[in-house]
Amino acid sequence: MKIGIAGFGAMGSLFAAKLLEHNNEVVAIDGWDQNVNTLNEKGLTFEDNGETKNYSIKALFPKDVNEKFDLILLFTKAMQLDEMLTNLGDSIDDTLLLVLANGVGNVETIEGHSSRDNIMAGTTLWSSELVGPGSIKASGTGSINLQYLGTSKDAKVAEVVAEMNASGLNVTQSNDVISVIWTKAAFNSVINTYCGILDCSVGQFGTIKDRDFLMDSVLDEISEVAAAEKVEFHKEKVKATLEEQFDPKKSGNHYPSLHQDLSKGRKTEIDFLNGYFAKLGEKHGINVDDNSLLTSIIHAKEDLNELKK
Ligand code: NAD
Repeated sequence: MKIGIAGFGAMGSLFAAKLLEHNNEVVAIDGWDQNVNTLNEKGLTFEDNGETKNYSIKALFPKDVNEKFDLILLFTKAMQLDEMLTNLGDSIDDTLLLVLANGVGNVETIEGHSSRDNIMAGTTLWSSELVGPGSIKASGTGSINLQYLGTSKDAKVAEVVAEMNASGLNVTQSNDVISVIWTKAAFNSVINTYCGILDCSVGQFGTIKDRDFLMDSVLDEISEVAAAEKVEFHKEKVKATLEEQFDPKKSGNHYPSLHQDLSKGRKTEIDFLNGYFAKLGEKHGINVDDNSLLTSIIHAKEDLNELKK
């Protein structure tokens, strides 16, 4: 199968390695010069559970793509997706597109460039870390939960899912992926946002005396927005998952990606987390003051980071 991976950072590279292991043809598509050059000259270096592997791969800038793929896997951050799709232009044509990026709103972004009949969306529990251009490290295993949102490409989708499973990516298909995406985004809207603001790890957040009040302030508003949008959402399930992750044997020692983005002076995905729920809540006349405030605080931190540059 011929697969383009658009956004070839930590996650795009991990998925490429898995798909290359199973003899798929994979093309890396990225806008970062050093990354594209390193991939073409030295291949992809992957430290997989302590063992270093290398894969040769062709890498292109989005504007240079003029070939057809069975699937394009979109793996930029949520706020970078629109620009990536704009730069890919006509090359996405009628191609099947899969987005697994965090946050809500990615499907709407893709619908600005392609028909719903081409879109697969979901979430993933795989994780990976970018070491430098052309180089990642990852440990452990993961899974994907996705749904095809169109109607006319079921046979092609079945082929793609079978190939991803044969490559060890552990795909299950959902009947209500929007609920799955909202649940993960609500989880991230608590832990990513508070760890970013409080400069703490997941486990340290779990030790805070007022942690239930802080979690409820975000999740109660999201519950109301979900009800207004008729999205199935269970606040207690999100809280239970959060509480599990406080354990150092789970994610307790982990600093969420939004914390890492802030500490490296990068923009965050906040407008696709609390910011997305706040905007939608305002549209419905729901009180979303807490999510609005948290969004503004993260934007303020991004602005202050810019001053330091
Ligand atoms: P990343 O920053 O490592 O990779 C993004 C890549 O996209 C970069 O290589 C960047 O150069 C490229 N890019 C960005 N904008 C571009 C543009 N306009 N044109 C061309 N290239 C562009 O991000 P990541 O960690 O791989 O995360 C991708 C998504 O997956 C995010 O939504 C993230 O929240 C989610 N996610 C990440 C992990 C993880 O462990 N890293 C786990 C689960 C979900």
